Amino acid sequence: MINGTTKLLDLDGLAVERVERLQDGTRRVHLATADETARACPACGVFANRVKGPATTRPRDLPYGERGLEFVWLKRRWWCSEASCPRKSFTEQTGQVPAGARLTTRLRVTAGRRVRDAGSTVVQAARDLRLSWPTVMDAFRIAAAKVTAEPLPEVEVLGVDETRRGCTRWEQDPDTGKWKLTRDRRHTGFVDALGTGGLLGQVEGRTAADVLTWLSTTELTWRKNIRYAAIDMSATYRAAVRTGLPDPPTGS
Ligand SMILES: [Zn+2]
Repeated sequence: MINGTTKLLDLDGLAVERVERLQDGTRRVHLATADETARACPACGVFANRVKGPATTRPRDLPYGERGLEFVWLKRRWWCSEASCPRKSFTEQTGQVPAGARLTTRLRVTAGRRVRDAGSTVVQAARDLRLSWPTVMDAFRIAAAKVTAEPLPEVEVLGVDETRRGCTRWEQDPDTGKWKLTRDRRHTGFVDALGTGGLLGQVEGRTAADVLTWLSTTELTWRKNIRYAAIDMSATYRAAVRTGLPDPPTGS
């Protein structure tokens, strides 16, 4: 029977057995498998019926309340009952807690969306969700890939401008004593300047070649639809736009 705590947690495929409060105030939630398909072999799909032994997993989840929760899912390891299956044994898993996952799926998805859709920095999302920077960055890469894989929206006015990312770094040559730029922190951004497409692309550098490299990744039909380019008075961008677009827009 599904109890209230299980409904409150709303974690598909798992049921709350009990909640324990530790001395430091942390609430430890003991979970049990509540989905028959958790014992379907991930390789062949056949339902297993012979238990190999117990296994424990402690996935992190979304913060709940001010202190967060600690999960302990006591699950089972099964022998696959399909004789021809290459996978001899496996542990139970659910959509929210895949085998070997250290985070629930919803926590990973939320972390990626905070950065992708909510304008949060990776650092801030990591603090809010009590995760490490690399974990949030990985989640963001996955979330972002879904958007960047989409074809570009049709654009009538292409905006091209430079953006500085972080501080410029200089380094002194030990022989000549001259200072030189060690890393160009300038990026070039491409935006839908009239419509609602927002940021279309961003590349490192601000030379004509940098602009052309990005333009060459777009479809010719997409470039042909561009009627105007909105740029500042930079001769570099003007040259790049004239070279890289099929019907060079005029004016600046
Ligand atoms: Zn199997």
